[in-house]
Amino acid sequence: MPELPEVQTVADDLNQKIKGDVITDFWSEWPKAIKGKSLAEFSKEIVGRKILGARRIGKNIFIDLSGDKTLYIHLKMTGHLLVKPAKSKIQNPNVKSNPKSKNYFEDKVNQYIRHKWYLTDTKLRNIDESTNKKSNVIKNFVDSNSYLPDRQAFVGSHRYDKVIEFSDVRKFAKIVLDDTEKIAELKEIKALGVDAVSQEFTFQKFDEILDQKKNALVGILLMEQNLIAGIGNIYRSEILFDAGILPARKAADISKVERKKLYKVIGKILKKAIEMRGTSDSDYRDTDGAPGGFQKVLQVYRKAGEKCKKCDTMIERKTIGQRGVFFCPKCQK
Ligand SMILES: [Zn+2]
Repeated sequence: MPELPEVQTVADDLNQKIKGDVITDFWSEWPKAIKGKSLAEFSKEIVGRKILGARRIGKNIFIDLSGDKTLYIHLKMTGHLLVKPAKSKIQNPNVKSNPKSKNYFEDKVNQYIRHKWYLTDTKLRNIDESTNKKSNVIKNFVDSNSYLPDRQAFVGSHRYDKVIEFSDVRKFAKIVLDDTEKIAELKEIKALGVDAVSQEFTFQKFDEILDQKKNALVGILLMEQNLIAGIGNIYRSEILFDAGILPARKAADISKVERKKLYKVIGKILKKAIEMRGTSDSDYRDTDGAPGGFQKVLQVYRKAGEKCKKCDTMIERKTIGQRGVFFCPKCQK
């Protein structure tokens, strides 16, 4: 499942690629993913809105739209968002001849398209040119930055420059569209603890969490989204290995010195994973459909039976918190 570094990579990509674009159409073959609205209601509400930006809290993506609406997406097990140029642009011969720009969109993992958002690139269409009559609808809409009745002019127009395609083989992903202020009030968002790379996640805060949850095993505590948001199965194993702490130890038994080390390592590993565009150990892909890089530097995750890179001892796997945790019995105390 995508964790903090993967979701951050997606949010950063979206900000680079689609900020300022207008949604001109929506298609879905799996409307069950859309919570609280029918497909027709969802389409009607989202079409014509401008994308103001993307952000992340924990493992959740928020795409803020004009008219104070927010699209909230949880990728769950296998979901990932692909941003593709309109067909004519994919077939650009210049793109094909450049060996560096491999077309990852053709990879099998990116073929399970359940939903599509069609986008009009307002910059590309020179919407500032007041002489261009055709663009006036878009211009008015974008300038107002809010809901306009004539946004319905976009429905079914298929006048698009890009498309966001949502690939999700297992179909567990979740999509919610609501008022921006209401999204923050959703039960699962409100219940989230401090974000693991936010300014609020200080050593003092981490120390307090460990004190509050004296009897919790550190391998479980790190994954509790209502305590610290963003860390999942992959990074808890990697963090605990780097910090030299066994996952089955109780929070109360972890010394001040170890806590300081663990806190530093959380920041270090997550930052490195963001820089490497996340871990693609299974279905996660970035918005180009390309895998991340962190799976190449994993030390223990899914490496049971292999030799530890530091000491040659066999890496072990244990089930803690219903999920497998991986560790070196020698390097970790
Ligand atoms: Zn070792």
